Amino acid sequence: MKESGGTKNMSNSEQGPSAIGKAGILIVDDQEGNLRVLEGLLEDLGVDIVTARSGEQALSALLEREFAMILLDVRMPVMDGFETAEMIRKRRRSRHIPIIFVTAVDDDVEHMTKGYSVGAVDYIMKPLNGDILRSKVKVFVELFQKGRDLANKTAELTEKNLALEKEIRKRERVERILAKSRDFYLALFDEFPTLIWRSDEDGRVTYFNRSWLTFVGRTLEQEKQAGWDHGIHPEERDACVAKYRAAFLAREPFETEYRMRRKDGEYRWMLNHGRPYRNLDGSFAGFIGACYDITPRKKSEEETRSANAELEAFSYTVSHDLRAPLRSMSGFCQILIEDFGTKSPDRGWRDYVERISQAAKQMDSLIRDLLAFSRLARDKVELMPIDLEPLLKEVITDMRLDGNPARVISPGAAVMGNRVLLSQVFSNLISNALKFMAPGTAPEVRVRAEPGPEGCVRTWVEDNGIGISAEYHEKIFQVFERLNDASAYPGTGIGLAIVRRAVGRMGGRVGVESEEGKGSRFWVDLPKASVPLQPLSTEGSDAPESNRLA
Ligand code: ADP
Repeated sequence: MKESGGTKNMSNSEQGPSAIGKAGILIVDDQEGNLRVLEGLLEDLGVDIVTARSGEQALSALLEREFAMILLDVRMPVMDGFETAEMIRKRRRSRHIPIIFVTAVDDDVEHMTKGYSVGAVDYIMKPLNGDILRSKVKVFVELFQKGRDLANKTAELTEKNLALEKEIRKRERVERILAKSRDFYLALFDEFPTLIWRSDEDGRVTYFNRSWLTFVGRTLEQEKQAGWDHGIHPEERDACVAKYRAAFLAREPFETEYRMRRKDGEYRWMLNHGRPYRNLDGSFAGFIGACYDITPRKKSEEETRSANAELEAFSYTVSHDLRAPLRSMSGFCQILIEDFGTKSPDRGWRDYVERISQAAKQMDSLIRDLLAFSRLARDKVELMPIDLEPLLKEVITDMRLDGNPARVISPGAAVMGNRVLLSQVFSNLISNALKFMAPGTAPEVRVRAEPGPEGCVRTWVEDNGIGISAEYHEKIFQVFERLNDASAYPGTGIGLAIVRRAVGRMGGRVGVESEEGKGSRFWVDLPKASVPLQPLSTEGSDAPESNRLA
């Protein structure tokens, strides 16, 4: 039992309205004995019982905590039960607590009526019947607990509601910001000179910016109706639509070039870049694209193409026309030496003739190399997987060398390359390696391959020749850069420029490691082949355009 005024009893009220803990019952009686009896009868209800010995004590107990109900003795000195009940009803906090008056059987009806008028909900007669008392009290305790649960639920719901309202307000704010920025970007898109379009997640183009609509001379509705592919040149339309569909299904960016009809009827070349875009939550939203008018570029490409064709024809003529007289010069020099060499005792003229012949041959090599170099920039290069080892062996065999000065010592892996260019590259490097030897040194050239950087195959061409000092390691790859006396080491100075250009066309790189007098190690990096190799025989007939040793 807890008595009013004891701080220990008040713990629930200190935690605020009784959201937790047992329900409390206040028993008010001036007789200690009565209190004990009541308490004894109610103790197994599992409620918190607080007792008060007077009306004052009861009122102060009511200030301390919440109660499910009050059992109030009618007859008490100083402040009787009715007065106490009246005071209880006057207070806002305790106004609704049910009060059961405990009264003697002989109390008259007038008394009872008074009790009801001051707020009693029931009467219990002494001597007390435990079962009746317990069931009445139980009803009020249950009512109180239900009320309390309801209040808790209401508080919980109110809290959730507040959180929800806050979330809604937040979303509305975000939506307003989004709408504002969407309007901003749409306005911005309209200002762009580029033609911009956007499709939804089903692939339907639903937006064209002002530049697009101005270009085609239609309204947004008309253009949506007509379809984005409407103005594409019939020759490119099917391919274009197929490309868009494939990219759309794969959700991958695409790029396509086609002619598109302008409102004045002229077809303009367009470059259309499309890429997928996503919603804020990452889900696929459709495609967005931009079209650029590339007609000027296309025109200049066409001009370059026809200029190149003219140049090609010119180069052919030049090479043919220039090389023909050079060949006859060499031929006649040879005849002169053969026919008159034995007849004339004077050796001087023969020396001149040999020099003329030599100069003619040198010029022939120069023209041939220059043509090869310029063709390398223009010709289309097709790449395929090529096994390096047989190719390198073939190059060395074709060089018809005496002895065994050049060897492939470690098998080359497969690279992505072009057979003609690869032959050109390695025959240049190997012939240089054999050529740039100090007098009296027997050449030893080794060709070996190993894994290179960034998924490449690195092929080394190593020699025991005169070497190259570091300051020339880059220079020697430029056209006409030669480091040595032409009489000791003949050449045109174009070979390494051809090598660098050819390797570049195959997506590779070339360089050298060397020191003067210590031999040279040229390296060539080429992308490693990841697909099955082509058999060697299928391309065997392709002879290099410029094989400097042929
Ligand atoms: P060319 O061989 O016709 O002179 P290249 O372009 O092939 O022209 O080579 C340019 C220059 O680089 C050569 O003249 C030579 O001085 C130097 N060079 C090239 N390869 C080697 C080598 N293996 N050893 C030493 N020097 C070399």
